[in-house]
Amino acid sequence: MVTDVVARQVHEQSLFQTAVEQFNIAADIIGLDDDMRRILSVCKREFTVHFPVEMDDGSVQVFQGFRVHHNSGPGPTKGGIRFHPDVTVEEVKALAMWMTWKCAVVGLPYGGAKGGVTCNPKVMSQNELQNLTRRFTSEISMMIGPNRDIPAPDVNTNPQIMAWIMDTYSMHHGYSIPGVVTGKPLILGGSEGRSEATGRGCVFAIHDAAEKFGIDLTSSRVIVQGFGNAGSVAARLLWEAGAKVVGVSDSTGGIHNANGLDISKVIAHKAATGTVVGYREAENVTNEELLVLPCDILVPAALENVITGENAAQIKATLIAEAANGPTSPEADRILWDRGVKVLPDIFANAGGVTVSYFEWVQALQAFPWTEPEVNERLKGIMARAFRAVSSTSEKYNVHMRSAALALAIQRVADFTRVRGIYP
Ligand code: NAD
Repeated sequence: MVTDVVARQVHEQSLFQTAVEQFNIAADIIGLDDDMRRILSVCKREFTVHFPVEMDDGSVQVFQGFRVHHNSGPGPTKGGIRFHPDVTVEEVKALAMWMTWKCAVVGLPYGGAKGGVTCNPKVMSQNELQNLTRRFTSEISMMIGPNRDIPAPDVNTNPQIMAWIMDTYSMHHGYSIPGVVTGKPLILGGSEGRSEATGRGCVFAIHDAAEKFGIDLTSSRVIVQGFGNAGSVAARLLWEAGAKVVGVSDSTGGIHNANGLDISKVIAHKAATGTVVGYREAENVTNEELLVLPCDILVPAALENVITGENAAQIKATLIAEAANGPTSPEADRILWDRGVKVLPDIFANAGGVTVSYFEWVQALQAFPWTEPEVNERLKGIMARAFRAVSSTSEKYNVHMRSAALALAIQRVADFTRVRGIYP
């Protein structure tokens, strides 16, 4: 138990420190002054709540949750809510900071936020999950709002959970407020294309990068770590585009077939059994093995800190597209850069989710829904524009694309912070 706590504290220190370390590297590149560094390297608001939930057996459990606003300069803050046993405030702070940079990279009028509850939704009933979601929403209700802070799905949260958030917030106010949250079910004003947006945006990014770096997608081997919302969509779209997806994994383990997997069958297998493991036309591998198997494109789409100084030298891919947030440590970044591996960084590669969330918010405010082709076309345009900006910044400063994307984002946020001035 004590070891768990110590391990958790080490993890805690490392994730927000990773975010700050990345920030400082990019701040050096653009010569950011010390005053602006002090402002942007901390989170504006960090809110911790403890709240009781009545469980199905009549017992009461107390959960810990967080909502963090990193920066609200350009508009309301935006960021997902995560339900996971490892959620800590330091993790949420890092994710909130990355949301600020992500929105700035793709040019959305948002600041960054994130939320999370330390819980294991896999052992909870739907009723317990609903109680937890509604009470957490109530606890953070003074922080969120359609013009204030707009949550969205993240790990282990989904459109149903967004519906409960929307309903709880609306009940507090006495009328329906669909703009308070994105990633809602379609019937409640969710956007066409939102559920696939993170994976689709990542695949648009891969297409743009493949064209720029002369990679032929149809002869490429792909590995996707994490087969949830982001990863399964990315795997399916790459497979549909003709790439050979040779390995995928989820929290229970991975599967590999050097001749390629039929992703539609893997999706059906996961739907039937709850895991990709045991899929008949593949061999089972561990998650650690999966990351270093031969491939051309690697898509980490699970959790943070999986590509580290320990395994970066063994990774075979020449292009990494970070569908997950924070999968690569700064040490791994340096190793990959020295080896010439191209990395499409999280704040760009997974920005499709927040971009279509922005579309959903705009549709909610205007009460005017768009069609799926409209959504996908606009997403494609935004990802292409962001890729051009990131790759040209990378060439301008001769730095890897993470530092380039961060430099671009930090410059934008610093510019509007300067123009707004310091109150009072
Ligand atoms: P999800 O819960 O739908 O899927 C997560 C997947 O990762 C699951 O398949 C799970 O089994 C797997 N997983 C967990 N631990 C693993 C491990 N150790 N090894 C391999 N697989 C493991 O979550 P998601 O929404 O797809 O989010 C995945 C990542 O993408 C997260 O980093 C999240 O922050 C990021 N992201 C998601 C969105 C979004 O719109 N959903 C947007 C931007 C970024």
